[in-house]
Amino acid sequence: MPILYGTLLLIFGLIIGSFLNVVIYRLPKHESIVYGPSHCMNCNEKIKPYDLIPVLSYLILGGKCRNCGTKISIRYPLIELLSGFLYLGVFAFFGLTLDSLLMMAFSSTLLVIAMIDFDTMDVYDGTLVVILLLAIFRLITNISSFPSAILGGLVVSIPLYIIAILTQGIGGGDVKLMGVAGFFLGIKVTLVGTFLGILMGGLWGVILMLFFKKEGKAMIPFGPFLCVGMYIALLYGVQIADWYLGFIFG
Ligand SMILES: [Zn+2]
Repeated sequence: MPILYGTLLLIFGLIIGSFLNVVIYRLPKHESIVYGPSHCMNCNEKIKPYDLIPVLSYLILGGKCRNCGTKISIRYPLIELLSGFLYLGVFAFFGLTLDSLLMMAFSSTLLVIAMIDFDTMDVYDGTLVVILLLAIFRLITNISSFPSAILGGLVVSIPLYIIAILTQGIGGGDVKLMGVAGFFLGIKVTLVGTFLGILMGGLWGVILMLFFKKEGKAMIPFGPFLCVGMYIALLYGVQIADWYLGFIFG
């Protein structure tokens, strides 16, 4: 049964991923996410339903528009695949429960936030509202996690807010993101996720400076790293936190 459920979830994740592509593309342009059919960005031809199958259509079309032959970015099938694997990851760790469905929805929203931040250096309030609603719903289903959720919402966002005021280096978007995401994740997972995000962001900064001769001040969006860190922490966070605490105090 796990293989059947896993396969169905992967397919479900791929389909959601193709919707996430639309959100990532249209939200920064303030276009409607729900209305208006998908069309080729070059020739504007409406894309036929049979050419909208996640990943498969891209492969069948050889990564080109059926009408005008313009290359379609590899990013679209990659995001669909990633979306599928994000769901599989949650399923592998937590099985199929109401809470894991909330975690999958949370992962999808992180994927959208990370990609839009990467593209535009901006975090959109609409995506933060989705996370906030998911956090509230998660709290309703498990009210005992209330103290952890409140602390999670404050533990990173408050220091980030202070750093943002002092340095002007961190965007307000990251502060709000860590507020609502921390509220969803609870204190342990939030701390581990932020730590992982800072680690990866810092490493990436060093790589850019060493190998690409970028200036230290070059703007790197920090949000995507936080999102990756939070997803990893969503799966491993509690174990990492307990291991670390045991290591310090054990
Ligand atoms: Zn075209």
